[in-house]
Amino acid sequence: MHIGVDLDNTILDATSAHLHYYNIASGLSLTPDDVNDFYIYRLYGWDKAEMDVVYSQYGHDIHWNSSPLPMAVEILQQLFNQHQISIITARPLLYREVTIEWLKLHKINYHNIELIENKLQVCMNSKVDVLIDDGPHYAEEFALVNKPVILYDQPYNLSVSNDFVYRASNWIEVKKHIDFLESKLHRLDITVPKLDK
Ligand SMILES: [Mg+2]
Repeated sequence: MHIGVDLDNTILDATSAHLHYYNIASGLSLTPDDVNDFYIYRLYGWDKAEMDVVYSQYGHDIHWNSSPLPMAVEILQQLFNQHQISIITARPLLYREVTIEWLKLHKINYHNIELIENKLQVCMNSKVDVLIDDGPHYAEEFALVNKPVILYDQPYNLSVSNDFVYRASNWIEVKKHIDFLESKLHRLDITVPKLDK
């Protein structure tokens, strides 16, 4: 299978890194328990322009100092051995280098990487079979075109539910969903009726 994988709050804990630097910038002291919005900067009362100022100052450090989520590295290695892995992140292109260096540091193997906001478009173009992501808007978008998303549980995506969403609260569950989708693909291959019969 061709698997698309998001980075922030899917492979790594972006919430803690963002809060750490946003707290420095704001003087506030928010914790992960305060996070109920995909756009963490909104918890600080910032608009997009204010966030851009903070992000341009701390973005590199935020991305460099994020930690992988439990078992993400190990399971990704197993998936890499069997599947095509594309890292698909909405991070700005400016952060391509620190992103690639971070992946290298944590020994995460992949076949391809895209920094792009329109994940649906890139997944259609490169025939991605399933996206692993935490973004509620991606789960909604992909369902409209019948594409499965393994939605990594985060406080801000718990209300999303549809026939194409497979929920995972950890990477062991991600792997189980991948194995299920893979077996489903094979079953479909076998049960396709032959035209000459
Ligand atoms: Mg994400």
